[in-house]
Amino acid sequence: MNDRKPPLPDSVDVAVVGAGVTGCSIAYQLAKRGKTVAVFDRRGICSGASGRNGGITGTGSALHTSSAGEAIYALTSENFTMLQDELVRELDDNFSLLVTGMIDIATTEEQADFLKQAVVAQQAHGVEVEWLDGADARDLMPALSPSVLGVEWKRNSGHLWPFQLVHAFANAARQYTVSFHTYTPVRRVLTQNGEVAGVETEFGSVEVGAVVVATNAWTRNLLPDLPDGAIVPARGQILVTQPVGQVLPMPFSTNYDKEYGRQTHSGQILSGGFRRLDIDEGLGAETEYVHPPAMGGIARNLVSIFPRLAGLRVVRMWSGLMGFTADGLPMIGAYGENKGLYVAAGFNGGGFSYGPATGKAVGQLVVNGRSTLDLEPFDPNRFAREDAVWENPFTAGEQNNPKKLSVDA
Ligand SMILES: Cc1cc2nc3c(=O)[nH]c(=O)nc-3n(C[C@H](O)[C@H](O)[C@H](O)COP(=O)(O)OP(=O)(O)OC[C@H]3O[C@@H](n4cnc5c(N)ncnc54)[C@H](O)[C@@H]3O)c2cc1C
Repeated sequence: MNDRKPPLPDSVDVAVVGAGVTGCSIAYQLAKRGKTVAVFDRRGICSGASGRNGGITGTGSALHTSSAGEAIYALTSENFTMLQDELVRELDDNFSLLVTGMIDIATTEEQADFLKQAVVAQQAHGVEVEWLDGADARDLMPALSPSVLGVEWKRNSGHLWPFQLVHAFANAARQYTVSFHTYTPVRRVLTQNGEVAGVETEFGSVEVGAVVVATNAWTRNLLPDLPDGAIVPARGQILVTQPVGQVLPMPFSTNYDKEYGRQTHSGQILSGGFRRLDIDEGLGAETEYVHPPAMGGIARNLVSIFPRLAGLRVVRMWSGLMGFTADGLPMIGAYGENKGLYVAAGFNGGGFSYGPATGKAVGQLVVNGRSTLDLEPFDPNRFAREDAVWENPFTAGEQNNPKKLSVDA
């Protein structure tokens, strides 16, 4: 790991703003394609959501089975394949990835009906998922409570160590002479004659040919013309228990992906969710603050689904800010009127299923003008074309209307 701060360059081909999984992956892919690149972060490498998440990764999504589903499957499948092969070779690291599969648990009839339909829809797109009823689910994961009605079993999923992946990208990018400027907030993107001309940081400006904004929850600070509600910070919280013998052979999610967890390599149980018990359901949050009611919800949920976890001690908790978009889809592509401005943000609850493939897609886009992956459903300009209606599937059933929330960092 190397988080030192080099002097600002006078000019580079591309400035990447944000040193999370998305920004570091993009920087690596651009440098590999011959571009000079500087990465800027207001804090350290992997200090945003990328350093505060659950580490679950996989293909497809039960929440995206309609029009954008095909593009989601393609992007997440490419991502999962890259993590198991191409990136292991190129970055000389395995990110502690375990391909275990995962389950999405139904505890109500409504959830079971939803997942059964999602399984059929995803299978039609070639995703390897199946529905297991309660007895079969308990054969797969004996710790499941007898009250669990069934699970969606997703084979192409697993978990990894997020810091290891992000720093592997950063280290490989440095080999191509990418410079990392940490604790260097970018104040604004500079434009001239309809083109991107530079970035203004707190410590001076750098001339650039292109800018990729990979700032996730903080994106609206740099792109204030994004419509209200297009991308909104959403605070997520996690607790971690003391280590136990193997209870969870694979990660789980439940309640429309709102709750989730996994057992880490060290045997600790890591689990998150319950934004609905946070202040304003965590939407519009500006601070990485742990709110005890959400922690209580996470703990109760864990014990109700896995009764044998009762009595375990919680040893750590933290929170992080995600970028939730109005439609739950990421924003990846050229943005606005000025040539050379790109966005890769808004990965909702799943940036580790997107980041590596997004890096490749943006690398191709900036260098060749197009990507081999279908980015059309992720067009960052889509919210400007029509009124951004809040239909984020990750917040279904929750109360807030984030269009009314202001977004200041
Ligand atoms: C509690 C929690 C649990 C999660 N669980 C999972 C999971 O299990 N699996 C999964 O796939 N995803 C999960 N996620 C989501 C995942 O973490 C994100 O989708 C992903 O990390 C997004 O990566 P990113 O690089 O786009 O954004 P970030 O990692 O947030 O990086 C953005 C960076 O931009 C920087 N920045 C912002 N503004 C500026 C500026 N003006 N100038 C310079 N730098 C700036 C920030 O400091 C930050 O480092 C979870 C998130 C949270 C919070």
